[in-house]
Amino acid sequence: MKIVIVGAGLGGLVCGRILQRAGHTVEILEASDGVGGRVRSDRVNGFTLERGFQVLFTAYPAARRQLDFDQLDLQTFDPGAVISKDGQRYTLSDPLRDPASVISSALAPVVTLRDKVKTGLLAASLIRKSIGETIAGPDTTIEEYLKQEGFSEKYINNFVRPFFGGVYLDNSLKNSAKAFKFDFKMLSQGRTTLPAAGISRIPAQIATELFTRNAIRLNSKVTGLVKDKSGRYTGAKLEGGETVMGDVVVVSTPAPEAARLTGLDMPKGQTSTINLYYSGSAPLYSGKKIVLNANPDPFVNNLVLVTNISPQHAPAGQHLLSCTVLGVPDESDETLYRKGLDDLKGIFKGDAKAEAALPGYKPLAVYRIPYGQFAQPPGIHPTLPDNCSGLPGLFFASEFTEASSQNAAMVSGEKAARLILKG
Ligand SMILES: Cc1cc2nc3c(=O)[nH]c(=O)nc-3n(C[C@H](O)[C@H](O)[C@H](O)COP(=O)(O)OP(=O)(O)OC[C@H]3O[C@@H](n4cnc5c(N)ncnc54)[C@H](O)[C@@H]3O)c2cc1C
Repeated sequence: MKIVIVGAGLGGLVCGRILQRAGHTVEILEASDGVGGRVRSDRVNGFTLERGFQVLFTAYPAARRQLDFDQLDLQTFDPGAVISKDGQRYTLSDPLRDPASVISSALAPVVTLRDKVKTGLLAASLIRKSIGETIAGPDTTIEEYLKQEGFSEKYINNFVRPFFGGVYLDNSLKNSAKAFKFDFKMLSQGRTTLPAAGISRIPAQIATELFTRNAIRLNSKVTGLVKDKSGRYTGAKLEGGETVMGDVVVVSTPAPEAARLTGLDMPKGQTSTINLYYSGSAPLYSGKKIVLNANPDPFVNNLVLVTNISPQHAPAGQHLLSCTVLGVPDESDETLYRKGLDDLKGIFKGDAKAEAALPGYKPLAVYRIPYGQFAQPPGIHPTLPDNCSGLPGLFFASEFTEASSQNAAMVSGEKAARLILKG
C-alpha cells in the first residue's frame, strides 16, 4: 500500500514511520523547508533558538514509545518555578525532587501553606491515577477546578496563571481542566527537559528512517486533495500542479489547513505567542527553574535562561535568555525587544547581580507564532475529530484529534497508522 501524508509535524512523522516499518510505501509532503512543524529550532551564530519556548515532558507516554531519550541528550529543568512579584523573587519547589529548595519554598508567601500541601497531595493523587482516571468525569475551566479543589486566589494568580499561561499560551485559565490535570500529572510524574541540540532533535530523530527511504519531500505545499471516481481519497495536488497518488491520504496539518483541504469541520480558535531572545555575557540568575512574572499586566509571561539548563544552546561564555509573550501584539521588533527589557527590569528589581547583568543583554531574535495551539475550552476533547474521517481513504494524524501537545500529536499518528494497518 502507498500512503500519502500531508505535513511532517510529529503527527505525520510518527504515522509515516509506523507505516513504513510495517512494510508500506510512505510519501510525506511538507510545505516548509524542514520537518517538525511547530517543533523546530534554528542555529544562529552558535546559538540554538527554539521557534517558541517548548519542552519535552519525559512522562509523555507516546514520547516514551516513540523516542530514544538517551540519544536526545536531554537536559533537565529543576521542578517548580521562581515567581517574581512586587520586586521580590520566591522559589516554589517540589520537596521530593528538589530538596535544596525546600526551605525557601516553604517560606514563599506568594502562595499559602495550605496551597503547598494541596499541591503535593494533588501531584501524589494524579501520579497514582491512570490517564483515563485523570481525565474522567465532567470538564470545567482550570480556574473553576482549582477553586473547587480549595486552592487560594494567590496560588491561582501567582503560580498557575503565569505557569500554565505559558503552557497553553493563554493565561485566562478558561481552558479545559482535563488538559490541566493531564499536564499536571506529566509534570509531577517525570522530568521537564530540552534536547541539548534543540527541540528539533525530536522530529529529526523520528524522520531519520523516513529520510533514508526518501519518504519525505520538503518545500512541497499541498493545495488540494485528489479523489477517484468513487469519491475515495487517493492523492494530493502540489503547488505547481504535480499530483502525488497513493492508496490512502493522511492529513497531518494544523486544524485550519485540514479544514481548508477537506471541507470538514475542525476545532476553531487558537492561542498565539511571541518568543523573544536576548544574549548576554553574564548569567542573569542561577538555577534551572523557569521564572514566572506574577506582576500585574505582564508583558513577558515567563522566561528561562536556557543556558542554565543546556549550556550547548550558546557559544562558550554566552548566555541565552528566552522570554515568552502571550499573544502576538502588532508591534515592531524594536518595540518588542524594548518592552521585553523594560519588563525584565521589573522582574529582577532589587536583585543586584541581575541588575548589573541586564544592561549587557542584547536582542538576538524574535519569533512570532500566530498559531500556537488550537483553543481547548472545557468539554472540547470528546468533540474532536476522529482519526478516521468517515470519508473513504481519508485519515487524520495531528494534534487536533486528541489535544494540543507533542504527546497528542504522536498519539494521533499512532492511532491513524493502526487504523490504516487494520484496513
Ligand atoms: C510556541 C509553542 C510552544 C509549545 N510548547 C509545547 C510544549 O512545551 N509541550 C508540548 O507537548 N507541546 C507544546 N506545543 C504544542 C506542540 O508543539 C504541538 O501540539 C504539536 O507539535 C503539533 O504537531 P502536529 O504534527 O499536529 O502539527 P504541526 O507541528 O503543526 O505540523 C503540521 C505540519 O504540516 C505542514 N503543513 C501545513 N499545511 C500544509 C500543506 N498544505 N501542505 C504540506 N504541508 C503542510 C506544516 O508545515 C507542518 O510541518 C507548543 C506549540 C507552540 C507553537
